[in-house]
Amino acid sequence: MGLGPSLLDREDVHVVIVGGGYAGIQLARNLKNKARFTLIDPKEMLYHNVGAVRSCTEPGFAKKILIPYAPTFGENFKQGAVTGINAAGKTVLLASGETVKYSHLVLATGSTGAFPFNLPDGMTTEAEVVKKSEGVLELVKEAKKFAIIGGGAVGTEIAAEIATDYKDKEVTLIHTREVLVDAESSEAFQKRLKHILKGLGVKLVLGERVTNLDQLPTDRVETVTVMTDKGTEISADLVIPCTGLKVNSMAYKDSLASSMEDNGSLKVNNFFEVQGTEGIYAIGDCTNIPETKMAYRAGMHADLLAKNILAEETGGTKKEYKPDPFMMTISLGRKAGMGQKGTTLLPEFMVRMLKSRDMMAWKSWRDMGQSAP
Ligand SMILES: Cc1cc2nc3c(=O)[nH]c(=O)nc-3n(C[C@H](O)[C@H](O)[C@H](O)COP(=O)(O)OP(=O)(O)OC[C@H]3O[C@@H](n4cnc5c(N)ncnc54)[C@H](O)[C@@H]3O)c2cc1C
Repeated sequence: MGLGPSLLDREDVHVVIVGGGYAGIQLARNLKNKARFTLIDPKEMLYHNVGAVRSCTEPGFAKKILIPYAPTFGENFKQGAVTGINAAGKTVLLASGETVKYSHLVLATGSTGAFPFNLPDGMTTEAEVVKKSEGVLELVKEAKKFAIIGGGAVGTEIAAEIATDYKDKEVTLIHTREVLVDAESSEAFQKRLKHILKGLGVKLVLGERVTNLDQLPTDRVETVTVMTDKGTEISADLVIPCTGLKVNSMAYKDSLASSMEDNGSLKVNNFFEVQGTEGIYAIGDCTNIPETKMAYRAGMHADLLAKNILAEETGGTKKEYKPDPFMMTISLGRKAGMGQKGTTLLPEFMVRMLKSRDMMAWKSWRDMGQSAP
């Protein structure tokens, strides 16, 4: 591709990456020492949310999933929240009032959801996250009967996590469908998964929708009755909602409204170019690419976009993104895990080693080029 220091010296190339999640850091890593870039995020650190469920059961684990940006990206990292884009002037506006000029703008603002699975806006320091995590650990320790609402990957993982570490507590997982984790998972996956969950003592209420979630407290231990549309009543003293994430469109909702889907995601083509714009790209969870949103896919978007930007600037050829076959791994507590690639189940010992042991925190520390504490 003819990469080399010459592109780094070019003042007219400045890639601005908005969002330092899995997509943003992977793009930044790919551009390091190859092209000028600035990575912008309101937080001082990457939140490895793949490991968030373990922070609910293991004291001190929260620190292991917070990885500071500065040692990895130095002056290429700017702490701040982007609040607007001037596409004509090729600048982004930060909440501080500062503007940053770009030649290529990459939006990687991901999604938002409830703590601890995602960090709320305004929670930007390691100290704040660690403190809040300690509160969650205490709630989990105190509660006796858990109602986990939503049996996607996160709900299933947290149910298994609690059931593994607290054998004396009751855990009920309630899900609207019969299929847990992901609709693309195979029958064999479902059978084995349900067998493992039942072995851990997790009660499954499947094919039922919770009707009173709005009235249930989720921030304290209090005995309540969770009700479903099929008339089932579940007594619980800690309710943990794990129901869907929302696209985080704060950076672009006012500037790129006509390029957005109704859910806030950005319409992109197979080169990650945002529809109706020039020099603006989107990768990761904030795109409308029809595939299950996953960290490893966000990384794949970033790898390809980096290659394409470098190719474009050095006379190479750009490649189109083609989603890979389905792949997923889930931890089922620290001692079990499952995965599927295509239609094949992955060896469970491999998932245990790679994921369940430390929720892949090792990978994020390695990717950031730092040693875990
Ligand atoms: C609990 C949990 C467990 C998961 N487990 C797995 C798993 O095991 N495997 C897997 O592949 N996927 C997993 N996922 C999905 C995965 O986390 C997402 O697909 C992934 O985070 C998407 O990465 P992203 O970079 O697109 O967005 P995000 O990781 O959401 O990052 C977006 C970043 O943008 C920043 N940002 C937002 N708005 C602005 C703004 N206005 N200005 C500047 N910065 C901004 C945010 O601060 C954040 O750092 C899990 C998700 C959750 C919630």
